Amino acid sequence: MEFKDHFSKTVSQELIDYVKNVVFEEDRYLFVRREKKVQYGFCSHCRQEYTTNYPHVKGALKHNQQTVCSHCQSLVTVKSAGRGRKNLYNEAYVVWYEKSQINPAAIVAVGLLVGIHFDNYKGELVFGTVTSYLFEPGYSEQRFYASWRDKWTKLKNIRSEIPGTMRYKKLYVSYDKIRDVVKGTPFQYSTWEQYKDIFDREDLVHFFDLAARYGCIEYLTKIGFHSCVKAKIQGDRTYGAINWNGKTLEKVTRLSKADLKQLQKEGIAPEPATLHSYHKFKKAGHPISFAQASWFGIFNFVGKAAELGEPLGPLAKYTLKQVDKQDTSPQSVLLDLRDYWHEARDLGMDLSKDSVKWPNNLRDAHIATTKRMKVKVDAELNAQIAERLPYLDHYSFSKDGLFIRPAASSIELFEEGKILHHCVGQYTERYAKGETNIFVVRRLVAPDIPFYTAEIRDGKVFQCRGHRNRGQTKEVAEFMHNFAAEMLQPKRKRRKIPA
Ligand SMILES: [Zn+2]
Repeated sequence: MEFKDHFSKTVSQELIDYVKNVVFEEDRYLFVRREKKVQYGFCSHCRQEYTTNYPHVKGALKHNQQTVCSHCQSLVTVKSAGRGRKNLYNEAYVVWYEKSQINPAAIVAVGLLVGIHFDNYKGELVFGTVTSYLFEPGYSEQRFYASWRDKWTKLKNIRSEIPGTMRYKKLYVSYDKIRDVVKGTPFQYSTWEQYKDIFDREDLVHFFDLAARYGCIEYLTKIGFHSCVKAKIQGDRTYGAINWNGKTLEKVTRLSKADLKQLQKEGIAPEPATLHSYHKFKKAGHPISFAQASWFGIFNFVGKAAELGEPLGPLAKYTLKQVDKQDTSPQSVLLDLRDYWHEARDLGMDLSKDSVKWPNNLRDAHIATTKRMKVKVDAELNAQIAERLPYLDHYSFSKDGLFIRPAASSIELFEEGKILHHCVGQYTERYAKGETNIFVVRRLVAPDIPFYTAEIRDGKVFQCRGHRNRGQTKEVAEFMHNFAAEMLQPKRKRRKIPA
């Protein structure tokens, strides 16, 4: 038996009808011409010519208008017969299934590039075979036609042409035809209907490849492992969660009878990551439920634990405890833990002590280290600010009951921002580094109460804001104007007073 013997030698009438009536349903034209003021139309679909308009009667058909062929009732687009027809050409990629010609248990599919042209006004079809697939129990094969060397080659693995050579073509797959083709073959109950909507896999060739090679597809689908089959079809990561060649349900799913019973009881439809997590936790000596495994799977807990470089067992145990205590997700526990360890290391804490490494209450411990880190950073910033103050103090100024002076510390800026409800606190770092200058404006009668805050840059008052970012009152504006004129302008030479 040869590969090509499985395929029919001719294009079936059924395929021709499918292409004509489904694929190119909208590519129907009525070509109109005039002769002695009579308009005639020729339908590209039924190939009949008839009179469409008589002299002196209104209602002659116009180029590009839509109408219905009065002969075959097709919806057609009117075209002037005199115009070019080259751009009326259309094409599509069709994946067409048939029964094998020689093996009653096998099915085949051909990938066809089909076209329709109107060179002779009739819609003429063109068929070009791009690729051929054979699916028989235990075996599948694909051959691909390389037109540039007029040669058919057997491919190593089944591939769909949808995302590849045919990615810019319109796609057609006749699922009604597949329903007929699989009847009486082992593929009849393969559950293919559930996988026909997977993006870029609509031609089902990956599905039938799996169904041909592995008997387990059918019952995997039926017991709720749809996601695992889908992942395999899409070429996604399956973590070896399924033993596709397994002979029994337990072998295939790598789960014991008790596990399978538990899975059914929990009503979980497992993803590959679910099973992966389930197995990993069990192996780490910390068995979890399938619901938990599904949850850990979504967060890729196993992968993240590996990134932390921690053995899964203790980490899982700790995470579950924290999740329980804080009503949070394993994801945020791991993130918190990573940050906490990072900060603890920076602060010189002894992470070799269990009580430090695994704090009873991670959230509180993390808040504490964050606070200490802030103090540490603030101390550095304050030192920098303190260094700038003697210079900036030259710009202190007082007039009409108000005064302005440089902000003294990060704490002062923080308080200023908190009380005035604006975001000056964010400027601390840039202020400390000398990239900008922050001054506080206060009343002489209340020198400790935040009033206005000003940013001074490039010899200008860049912004000056009060409570909740409010702009300046007339009083403050006048004060700032005087301040700028007096302190920020280059000093005029004092007139010499003659002695
Ligand atoms: Zn017609």
